[in-house]
Amino acid sequence: MKKSNSTFSLKVSKTERNCPIGEKIGKQNLEQGKVPVISCEGPCIRGEIARLVANIVAKQEPYRRGCHGELFSVPESAMAEWMNKAGKVVLIDGCFLRCHGRIVENLIDSDKLIQFDALSYYKKYTDLFDADAVPEAERREVAQKVAEIVIEELKRGGLANLKSEKSGSCS
Ligand code: SF4
Repeated sequence: MKKSNSTFSLKVSKTERNCPIGEKIGKQNLEQGKVPVISCEGPCIRGEIARLVANIVAKQEPYRRGCHGELFSVPESAMAEWMNKAGKVVLIDGCFLRCHGRIVENLIDSDKLIQFDALSYYKKYTDLFDADAVPEAERREVAQKVAEIVIEELKRGGLANLKSEKSGSCS
């Protein structure tokens, strides 16, 4: 791992393979001008809520779910091409650590990246890790409320009220 004062880099092993359905959907979404929505996909309740929020938002027009894995590690893929060429990209991180935001903001122009910190909207469960520590119906309800805020924010066209890691906390 290489480090500088403000960034560090990771080596990624190349692959010669591709994901057939990812290629199809990436091409289709690029042609149709859809806007990618990605989330941090973290394993904890915060990551799970971010994933659920991303899934809900991506059901609205003109949004569709993007694959962050291909963006990061299969740069020649149609999925990565779609995300690189899209007019904007919506990113929903699970918490103030912004694990994906800190990567994606170095891959995609900052003026087209719209970032959200899901936890900053619901501010709960910070003493829990496992996603199933919160009953499924309750996590879906929380995700729905956060998604509605995100959708409204996107309709307004403004950049989200991203809380940076400097101001973030667990509560
Ligand atoms: S942003 Fe938060 S929830 Fe998402 S992967 Fe990072 S630590 Fe986990």
